[in-house]
Amino acid sequence: PRVPPGLPRGEARALGPPPMTAVRLDGVGKRYGDAVALAPTSLSFATGSVTALIGPSGCGKSTLLRIVAGLVAPSEGVATVLGEPAATPALRVRTGYVIQEGGLFPHLTARANAEIMARHLRRPARTAELAELVRLDPKLLDRFPNELSGGQRQRVGLMRALMLGPELLLLDEPMGALD
Ligand code: ADP
Repeated sequence: PRVPPGLPRGEARALGPPPMTAVRLDGVGKRYGDAVALAPTSLSFATGSVTALIGPSGCGKSTLLRIVAGLVAPSEGVATVLGEPAATPALRVRTGYVIQEGGLFPHLTARANAEIMARHLRRPARTAELAELVRLDPKLLDRFPNELSGGQRQRVGLMRALMLGPELLLLDEPMGALD
């Protein structure tokens, strides 16, 4: 590991590995026809950090998140996530993404929604532990999304995003319906 200048080796080890760049946008913009959804934007932030994007409705926050999540291709610029191009398929299991209201599949129970990626990849589902973490009554896991409140749906969306232990968590107003 890299040793920061001026620190004895023992202390440097205690600092752990240096943070890597989690997200880097170089002039990333998105147009739909003539409409500008996201003006060219450059930013970067490191793993181990929490970054909030703040701006008025329609300024492109959700578009930026969709680009970082690999769901939307930018019209210009380069988006890099965890060192890979944002569209790289393997990033989908390293990144958790929660859209407003949780974005649950209506025909699946809360449990099946929360576990969907773990089941698909045959990985263990940490459902009970995550229900406790997001403070969701486990009895609600057998309900369908239309039988849950907005806040409960958001909790299930958070469980789904956290299930595989993501290195990057993308949250689009995920606390809007939470107390
Ligand atoms: P925010 O999240 O900051 O409220 P959005 O990223 O959702 O903003 O949207 C930015 C702008 O792009 C808005 O004017 C919106 O209407 C427009 N927009 C977003 N998605 C599309 C789309 N698929 N087609 C056309 N216009 C879009």
